[in-house]
Amino acid sequence: MQEFDLVVIGAGPGGYETALAAAGSMRVALVEKEELGGTCLNRGCIPTKTLLHAAELMQAIRRSDAYGIRHGEASCDFSALHAQKDQVIRQLRDGIALRMKQKKVTVLKGWGAILDEHTVRVRGEEETLLKTERILIATGSRPVIPPIPGITCPHVETSDTLLEKADGVYPRLLIIGGGVIGVEFASVFSALGSAVTIVEALPRLVGGMDREISQSLKMLLKKRGVEAFCDTRVMEIREENAGLRCLCAQGEKPLELDSDGILVCVGRRPFIGDLFADGFSVSADRGKILVDEHFQTCYPGIYAIGDVTGGVMLAHAAAAQGRCALAHMLGKAAPVSLAIPACIYTDPEIAAVGMTLEEAREKGLQADSRKYPMSANGKSLLSGQERGFIKVVYEKDSHRLLGAHMMCARASDLISEMTQALVRGSTLEELAAVIRPHPTFSEGISEAVTLP
Ligand code: FAD
Repeated sequence: MQEFDLVVIGAGPGGYETALAAAGSMRVALVEKEELGGTCLNRGCIPTKTLLHAAELMQAIRRSDAYGIRHGEASCDFSALHAQKDQVIRQLRDGIALRMKQKKVTVLKGWGAILDEHTVRVRGEEETLLKTERILIATGSRPVIPPIPGITCPHVETSDTLLEKADGVYPRLLIIGGGVIGVEFASVFSALGSAVTIVEALPRLVGGMDREISQSLKMLLKKRGVEAFCDTRVMEIREENAGLRCLCAQGEKPLELDSDGILVCVGRRPFIGDLFADGFSVSADRGKILVDEHFQTCYPGIYAIGDVTGGVMLAHAAAAQGRCALAHMLGKAAPVSLAIPACIYTDPEIAAVGMTLEEAREKGLQADSRKYPMSANGKSLLSGQERGFIKVVYEKDSHRLLGAHMMCARASDLISEMTQALVRGSTLEELAAVIRPHPTFSEGISEAVTLP
């Protein structure tokens, strides 16, 4: 039996980042049943954003005519694109493996199961028992497969399987679910040549986001040829006419939609398959592991972070939670504030942090908002960007920033400045006092925060 101070189960961004951070002060083991990097690196953030980069290049080629650049019709060699994606993943994965070696983290390949508060069994090529002071569960999540008749038909994909399809895109792709992952895939695959339709059960796309962002996104996708049906449920999938037919209900009205492939992305569920053995378990609610503010479970020595806790399912949230859990194990104060920015990598990008105006008012705050349209921003105009905006939500009396919501080029970078302002409790005046270079997208922030 090997002995450790900390055994981490799951090598996604939550697990591997925490293992590396802990290695300075503890003997650490990292248990992973598949590949280092977890969902984020192998089936999530990195592969999707590599395809997205290709889609952006395609869009840039199409738009370049206006700048006097003449060229033939652009086309995509999908096997080359997938080879590039796989190369990026491999390089990052090798980087993680090297860092584990340098930091002397013991990496064990196999299925981890918790036998009791201090024992983890790893079933890989052989079975190993690990004795440990503490355990960190970072086992992530899995796509939800809704019980729709016909859901197991061929060419009904999840994000995991669609990312592996290297023989071209479906000419007609229907996406069930207009959340973050659904609209990102719609953006990518429409740019790469699919005719995309989204079916969303809720009244609007990306439901948790600012209402105006949802509306603008729907319009923008429509301009790109993506049809989105909201308030619509898929009731059945049938194989018909060498394709797939979705029988939907749009409110009371029946609707039939044909496609060649279907992507199911109606959400993700925490994954704790076979994680507990010998009748031992921690408290959980509908599959989510329950934790306190230090990410401690009902057992003081067992912590859980990331998607498996069912909170904000984002890679940087998992990593930040890991840092907080580790600090608690070491008796230190939490090193990060958990104001978590969320980004959607559509074109243009969407990013948000903090409260929407509705949320602030629901909390009883006297709040207001200001919006700056990026159509007046020089950098946006000169680089031929789509319409977009930067919106700030603030407290009426103090002008303290409560939230920021943007839909514009580089929103995923701009949001960091707003996150910092939010964490520091900055006012709009303090944000306006910062000089931002010209011409940049960030000048849009100066305009949005300057009160009349
Ligand atoms: P995971 O990354 O899911 O890792 C969990 C690991 O645990 C897995 O490798 C799994 O094999 C392993 N495991 C599970 N059970 C066991 C066991 N018993 N024994 C051993 N190993 C086990 N987030 C962003 O922030 N930005 C994005 O752009 C983004 N894009 C995304 C795109 C897609 C298509 C998807 C699906 C997700 C995306 N996400 C994005 C979400 C992000 O990938 C997750 O929030 C993040 O990976 C969660 O990290 P984690 O460490 O909690 O778990």
